[in-house]
Amino acid sequence: MDIPRIFNITESAHRIHNPFTPDKFATLGAALRLEPGTRVLDLGSGSGEMLCTWARDHGISGTGVDMSQLFFEQAKRRAHELGVSDRVEFIHGDATGYVAEKKVDVAACVGATWIGGGVAGTIELLAKSLGDGGIILIGEPYWRQLPPTEDVAKECLAGSIADFLALPELLASFGTLGYDVVEMVLANQDGWDKYEAAKWLTMRRWLDANPDDDLAQDIRAELASAPVRHATYTREYLGWGVFALMAQPKGPQG
Ligand code: SAH
Repeated sequence: MDIPRIFNITESAHRIHNPFTPDKFATLGAALRLEPGTRVLDLGSGSGEMLCTWARDHGISGTGVDMSQLFFEQAKRRAHELGVSDRVEFIHGDATGYVAEKKVDVAACVGATWIGGGVAGTIELLAKSLGDGGIILIGEPYWRQLPPTEDVAKECLAGSIADFLALPELLASFGTLGYDVVEMVLANQDGWDKYEAAKWLTMRRWLDANPDDDLAQDIRAELASAPVRHATYTREYLGWGVFALMAQPKGPQG
């Protein structure tokens, strides 16, 4: 079981597989006022940077589930490196439908909401693992600027304009789903650059080492077009953030 090979190639050197930089995860961890012993579930945990650094900095314990064999192995290595292997556990597998055996305090899906079939489905899935008063974290793109055409949306690697909302609409949508937005940390263009540009050097080095690979032509084409496409489209049109949500109280006061 694995994700498409192209991601394991282009993101093999990434510690964070989204436009967040280490300081953004640190800001988010502090903003959430994480206490030692807080239990965190992370679906699509990638190379485990969020769980491992929060375990080191805040003493949380956590479980991450990810379908990439490579990222899963990197996550275990990172936990070992940071001395938190006793507190964070990584599971290699499909997180679709994954529900924790014991309820958690924070249930996250940071940049992988297709796991629940979109934002609403992912919130519903995470809620099944969440204890009373717990926090859901959703990492998701939004339109910084609305693309003028569907073609522009596609250049941002969206299927269509309708795949994402503008930030105010995204925030409002959480309310419609019955959640209060209680915190948010947004990525910025530097973060996008870090995420995207790191792929370019990785691709170049991979091409030098694997000139005859079946994917070499695709990767060469991607390397040739990615920088200009990024600067023209993704960097300008797409924003990204992590949103912290708490279920609105039910009953007369809610
Ligand atoms: N949250 C991580 C990774 C985000 S990238 C970070 O912030 O760094 C999206 C991740 O989802 C990748 O690690 C990919 O391997 C994983 N993924 C994709 N489909 C998945 C699935 N069905 N189940 C579990 N993980 C999945």
